[in-house]
Amino acid sequence: APAPPPARHFFSDPAEVEALRGSLLAWYDRCKRDLPWRALAVTEPDADRRGYAVWVSEIMLQQTQVATVIDYYNRWMQKWPTLQALAQASLEEVNELWAGLGYYSRGKRLQEAARKVVSELAGRMPRTAEDLQKLLPGVGRYTAGAIASISYGQATGVVDGNVIRVLCRLRCIGADSSSPAVIDRLWDMANVLVDRSRPGDFNQALMELGATVCVPKAPLCGKCPVKQHCQAWRRKLFGNPPKVPDVEDCGVGDCPLCPPATEPWDSSLGVTNFPRKAAKKPPRAMRTATCVLERRGCHGAPEYLIVQRPGSGLLAGLWEFPSLPLTQDMQEEREREELADHLQAWMGWPMAAKGLQFIGEVIHIFSHIHQTYVVYSLSLDADVTLDPALSPSRWVTEDEFHASAVSTAMKKV
Ligand code: SF4
Repeated sequence: APAPPPARHFFSDPAEVEALRGSLLAWYDRCKRDLPWRALAVTEPDADRRGYAVWVSEIMLQQTQVATVIDYYNRWMQKWPTLQALAQASLEEVNELWAGLGYYSRGKRLQEAARKVVSELAGRMPRTAEDLQKLLPGVGRYTAGAIASISYGQATGVVDGNVIRVLCRLRCIGADSSSPAVIDRLWDMANVLVDRSRPGDFNQALMELGATVCVPKAPLCGKCPVKQHCQAWRRKLFGNPPKVPDVEDCGVGDCPLCPPATEPWDSSLGVTNFPRKAAKKPPRAMRTATCVLERRGCHGAPEYLIVQRPGSGLLAGLWEFPSLPLTQDMQEEREREELADHLQAWMGWPMAAKGLQFIGEVIHIFSHIHQTYVVYSLSLDADVTLDPALSPSRWVTEDEFHASAVSTAMKKV
């Protein structure tokens, strides 16, 4: 078993834990946001449906703002109100509804997992965090804890980005908050803190506090319901702890949860001294040439050619304008020639590089890639069919393009 955390960085006083739970839940009851999945998690009598609703919302909320998710969630639940309905959907339909939400593998895995529940688990959702994580593809520790506590009342904690921030501030944890050692401690703490009779509400309250009060840049400490339990707030008010640590304090310099000695408390930052993260790796730079091929459709309106991406990897199965990854330091003339060669191989007839009209560049940031699309256009008189052995393709009007499973980056293009 790992050594117990230094007392200063943990909640070891049961009376304090009880007081913190009470303050947080009372605040949550007064101030929680009205979100569609919350209503369903309470009013839906069928446990599987409750679990499904929370699952969909939690997967959509990963890396995505609540305000963006609401509309996607409502449309999703209208189209596939049950696991069984989702299990019968095609991946194309899932991608179409997910278009614009980003991190597309989430929708795909959600649908694969729904099929598994229907075909292998008799349509019954696993009821504990351990089983959810073990049995459902794409469900990690956090999502499993959220579904189990909110839908089934299991007294299990959750740790997401909001909870990390709140707990690190409550207990002055300044070591790298993305390190496995710190994350493990935060899970321990979340499991100790979670309210035994209202675990789902408690977990949502802790996340809500991080999302609306204990926010990253300018936390509203004056309005915080748990400020009396917050060491970062106390430190901001009363300054550095005494040089000689008391029994509650950790050893100076070698505590695995304190900030490293090279990064002392910065009084200008106040409570935002916590949490700390190791410097992020800069995103990888990529360039991709892309060509908007246009023709007059049978009703005279312009149509555009889109092709489907491979079924695995980045933006798997989504549709895009014919595109070609480029090497970094290529001259513009060379880029154009490469793209012309690529289109020629696809279409099977000669294509002059100078026929491609340069339109501009579009930058899109994926989580780990800084992508520059070099955009060309080409108007065609003749009909064109791409070699279906290379990639599925189709002509679409502008409206059809927007309703297709295309990424936000392609919409920018
Ligand atoms: Fe966060 Fe401030 Fe509340 Fe502490 S007092 S938990 S820093 S909002």
